[in-house]
Amino acid sequence: MTASYDGSMTTDATGTAPDRRAVVDVHPAGDAAPELRDPSLPVLHIDDLAAVRGDGIFETFMVRDGEVRNLDRHAGRFTNSAGMLDLPAPDLDRWIAATDLALVRWAELGGGDASLRWMYSRGRESTGIPTGWVTVAPESPAVSRDRDNGVAVMTAHRGYSLDISRDAAPWALVGAKTLSYAANMAALRYARAHGLDDVIFTAADDGEGSDRVLEGPTSTVIAVRDRDGVREILTPLPEVGVLPGTTQAALFRSAGDAGWTCREAPLTVADLFDADGVWLLSSVRRYARVTALDGTPLGRPDCAAEIEELATRAAEGR
Ligand code: PLP
Repeated sequence: MTASYDGSMTTDATGTAPDRRAVVDVHPAGDAAPELRDPSLPVLHIDDLAAVRGDGIFETFMVRDGEVRNLDRHAGRFTNSAGMLDLPAPDLDRWIAATDLALVRWAELGGGDASLRWMYSRGRESTGIPTGWVTVAPESPAVSRDRDNGVAVMTAHRGYSLDISRDAAPWALVGAKTLSYAANMAALRYARAHGLDDVIFTAADDGEGSDRVLEGPTSTVIAVRDRDGVREILTPLPEVGVLPGTTQAALFRSAGDAGWTCREAPLTVADLFDADGVWLLSSVRRYARVTALDGTPLGRPDCAAEIEELATRAAEGR
């Protein structure tokens, strides 16, 4: 069995299903109630546009103590993503009912920390009826390893740059969590092939002298400054074309309450080197401190334990 990058377990090389997985067919477009499926059997038709074109959206939730965390933030982004792809607005009550069903099954299977996905596809080419699934799988050991050890990261040009505030290219779907993650996975494979753990996408500088920071392939970037009486957490402006992170948004709320100044700002790679600490945030992994950036070690600041506790609370929706 191998660990996927968003913190869930994937099948092993023989295609064998992992020991424990809950699968629910949501039937997002029909009257049929969500129903449990046998995880050892296929659930997708060969002409489903999720498989054929990656034409759909998803969310990945942390499951802790039998519950999904930050449900409202994920559901809001899911609805927004659906709108950007011109998919019918998801019936959230139905998706939540499917989630409850999956979590009951998960508990029957033994429960434990997990990763729960909502996947919503444009549906089969032959029918045009949207399809959707909720799945639960065990949390990968890789996520706790990254939390404990941090990650060595390379910066990498994403290959395109957009100002989404000017609605420059709505078809690029930047800001939607689409099923088309092949390029993100390719960037992570590239990093791993070069002995690194993760990537921070950048865009060529437009006069600032240093490339602009975007996001990780599966994470939001934060830079922390804690010196000379300044206690600040910065993340790139959404306008640069990043997926708005639920963990970062929750962190900004809890850290703001704890006295940190939290700001979206036009971050550059030079700002990351100048920061006291840099972290990658995402729902299941929660946080991974960047221990080295493009080969330069980044020290662990005194505030690290506090930031990581705040990030844990944020990811757990506490
Ligand atoms: N940015 C990208 C591209 C992602 O794929 C993810 C999560 O998978 C994030 C940011 C972090 O989002 P969240 O904190 O909602 O998990």
